[in-house]
Amino acid sequence: MAYDYDPENIFAKILRGEIPNDTVLETDHCLAFRDIAPQAPDHVLIIPKGAYVSFDHFAAEAGDAEIVDYTRTIGKVCKMLGVDLDAGVDGYRMIANTGKNGVQDVPHLHVHILAGKFLGRMLPNI
Ligand code: AMP
Repeated sequence: MAYDYDPENIFAKILRGEIPNDTVLETDHCLAFRDIAPQAPDHVLIIPKGAYVSFDHFAAEAGDAEIVDYTRTIGKVCKMLGVDLDAGVDGYRMIANTGKNGVQDVPHLHVHILAGKFLGRMLPNI
């Protein structure tokens, strides 16, 4: 079964320039921008420019250059926010909600970087 990508999702519209965004960093293969409804003092989304619905889709079909760029961009965003552990600070949480069970609202791969306060346990009910 093939991955099903909806080109009308909101992040595809951001990538096409149809909707504005608060860009933090743009590279050849990725865009990082602030979440419109931040759930922490720092809340940044990092997306590949390619049409991937999930991380598993990206891992299966992205080229090496896209994968390297995505990984490095996530690291660079952490550095730009000053929350990377190399800075000796308090860290962050990285989340990729996926599919129905993961409660993914936007069907274009995105990693959330949340930082700037103590975030509590990841799944408080478990
Ligand atoms: P998820 O539930 O992991 O799919 O999260 C989607 C995220 O996208 C949510 O945190 C939203 O607040 C965020 N979001 C939706 N529309 C926009 C937008 N136009 N610009 C920035 N963030 C957005």
